[in-house]
Order: sequence, then C-alpha cells, then structure tokens
Amino acid sequence: MSREKSAELYEKSKEYFPGGVNSPVRAFKSVYGTPLFIDKGDGPYIWDVDGNKFIDFCASWGPLILGHNNPKIREKVTETALKGMSFGAPTAIENELAELILKNNKFIQKLRFVSSGTEAVMSAIRLARGYTKRDKILKFEGCYHGHIDSLLVKAGSGLVTFGETSSAGVPESFAKETIVVELNNIDAVKQAFKEYKDQIAAVIIEPIPANNGLLLQEPEFLQALRDITSKEKALLIFDEVISGFRVGFEGAAGYYQIQPDIITYGKIIGGGMPVGAYGASREIMANVSPEGAVYQAGTLSGNPIAMAAGIAQLTELSRSGFYKDLNNKTQEFAESIQRFASARNYKVRIQQIGSIFWIAFTDREKTQAASQIDPASMEKFKVFHRECLNRGIYFGPSGYEVGFISSTHTKTDLEVAKRAIFEALDLTFKH
Ligand code: PMP
Repeated sequence: MSREKSAELYEKSKEYFPGGVNSPVRAFKSVYGTPLFIDKGDGPYIWDVDGNKFIDFCASWGPLILGHNNPKIREKVTETALKGMSFGAPTAIENELAELILKNNKFIQKLRFVSSGTEAVMSAIRLARGYTKRDKILKFEGCYHGHIDSLLVKAGSGLVTFGETSSAGVPESFAKETIVVELNNIDAVKQAFKEYKDQIAAVIIEPIPANNGLLLQEPEFLQALRDITSKEKALLIFDEVISGFRVGFEGAAGYYQIQPDIITYGKIIGGGMPVGAYGASREIMANVSPEGAVYQAGTLSGNPIAMAAGIAQLTELSRSGFYKDLNNKTQEFAESIQRFASARNYKVRIQQIGSIFWIAFTDREKTQAASQIDPASMEKFKVFHRECLNRGIYFGPSGYEVGFISSTHTKTDLEVAKRAIFEALDLTFKH
C-alpha cells in the first residue's frame, strides 16, 4: 500500500500549517505513520490520494451518520448553492431546519444556530452565566467541550479542585472559574456545591462522554446531576455535540429521559457542513441577544448551505426505524469483536451505545476519565491502528477517540472490517 503522495503532501503542509494540519489530532502524532490525505469519500468508504480504499469508522469524527457523499444531501446543497452562498440576513431555510429539529425533539423549545460545536458550548456557557448571574462552571475530568478558554482545564489533585489550564495561553484566572470533578461521582459534585455555594452557574457534561474513550455514565448519576442542579438553582448543560442526533433524534436527553436546561449540538446537524446549535426553553433562550442581554452573534450563522445539508440529513434521521437498524447493527458488530477478543483472553473491552463504539485495550469497564486509563494500553492501540490501516480499515488516529457506524455500512462491509480487526488484534497481542 503506497502512501507516497500523502507523505509528499504532508511535507508541504508542514510548511503551511502548525504541525502540518488544521486540527491537531489529524497529525497522527499518537499513532504510527504520517497522516493520510483524503481524496474522496462515498458511503462507508474513503480513498486517500494514493488511491488506497478504506472502510471508514471515523466519519469525519461523527457527523456523517449517512456515510460520505450522500446523494440527498449533495442534491439539496447543490440546489441551495445555486441561489447564493450567504446573505447574513434571515432565510426561510433556517426556519425549515429549526422546525424539523424542534418538532421532533421535546427537550428544547428554541434554538440558535452557530458554526461549530465549540461556538455552541461557548455560547451556552455565557447564557448560563447571564441567566444565573453566577460565574463558576463545573465540568468533569475527561469531558471535552471544544477549545474554549474556560473549559480547556484539567483536574488538579483532590476531589474538588479549581481547574488547571491544559493549554498554554489560558490565563490561570480564567481556569479559576472552572471547577473540575470526576465523572460518575456524585459526592464530588455535592461537595463542590457545598464549597462554592451560590457561585456555580452551570454543570456541563457530555452525558455520553466520548472524547476519552466512551465513558458510559450510570443513569442514576445523570439524574442526580439533574436533581442537584435544580435544587441549587444552577443550570444543567448537556453537551451533545457527539451524542445529539446520534444515539437517537433526541440524543442523550431522550435516551436517558432527562431534561437538561441547555443542550449544545454540532456535527450531525450540519451533515458535514460547519454547524452547531444551542437550545433551551423559551424562557432561558429569551436571554439571548437581541431579545435579551447575553450577546452572541455570527456572520455565517444559519448559513444556507449548511442548513440545506442539515435538512437533508435530519429528514432521513427522523424517519421511523432509522436508529433501530443502525444501533442494532453496531451492537452486533461490537459484540462479535468482544466475543473474539474474550475467547482469546485479549485485554480488550468494547464499549458501545447507539452507533458509537470504542475499542479499549483494558479489561475493566470505564466510567471515569483518561487518567485512569493505563497509558500502556495506548501502545497497544498504536499497533492496532497501524495494522487496521494496513488492512483497509480507517479509525481516528487516537486511542481515546470513538468509532462511528453509518447507515451505509452494510453487513458485508462490517464482516470485511471484522476479519481485518481480528487479524489486527492478533498482531497487537503478539507484541
Ligand atoms: N463538545 C464535544 C462533546 C465535542 O466532542 C466537540 C468536538 N469533538 C466539541 C464540543 C467541539 O466541537 P467542534 O470541534 O465542532 O468545535
């Protein structure tokens, strides 16, 4: 399998972009080899610039739930593009996508479109602060919420700590407004509310944490978060940038039947175009400018092309039976990899929910963050990732990232992928 053209392009791109990329994980730093430059995608497949074909489980990190180059999305985008790319003025197509979302999702009553998940979360945090007139935010170790200053923080030592910045360029004073606690540990949350009485504006969580592997939370924990935030008059924010429209049309809120105060979305809403959104009750959203005092704006927000892609994609997702088929297919796939690994006593655990899965090189169930994941397991992932690539299977280039299955992955594709994955596992455990 030649990777010559990718290597050449990477040499060039390193002159243009820091680390040769426009988003860090793409640089393949935590796996073997240089990044593949992708030429095209169709259904469950991608082709790199050297002409190698892969079954893709990265799906552009989640948005492509209908696979690559879906004809309905492509047609709707093309038809819309013929009328112009952007107006910075209201368009009917924004109403159309909003209606599709709000009619099928009882957890939000009003929303605002933005252009990325990061922007959605940043705006939701400002809204929570503006609404509660409090400053502190409580987040969980191992949850990622985009590259926002106040959320690029990690836990210090101790049960309840102010965050420590996890990126250069984030002032300590910003990090001090963020409290970081362990996932799935309600006592830590209770203690934080005690220590910072009437200071916490919001608790933000990925209800299905999928950025440090897939750290499924106990439903009772999520419910306890709902209860304590209500009692303490803080808002509960579900960051559903990954889980939204992925585990079901109503995302994790629908899956667990828990009503958060604000929900953030991204990825899937745009069908591959840059879109995010945040939504809440009419009462909370009334605080957003120009109706209220919380300022938030965007030149390209509600961009017609992005709305078009979203409408085409969500229309498919709203059809009955869509999620059932997809989720069943993913469950079968995950279970058979687990069976294979268990039969050979490999320390592998497949976590799965909806059409999200994570192949973890551990034998313990994980509900908490990366710091508890044995770094040695990431060495195993490196080998596994290389051997999968060599066999035409593309996973995101980091052992902390989850995989996604799309409606276009057929039974045959999944059989082919499984055979390659089994071989890759055998080689991984020979090392
Ligand atoms: N929140 C979550 C839960 C995410 O997974 C991500 C990105 N993977 C973001 C926020 C940020 O979204 P974006 O990359 O679109 O800015």
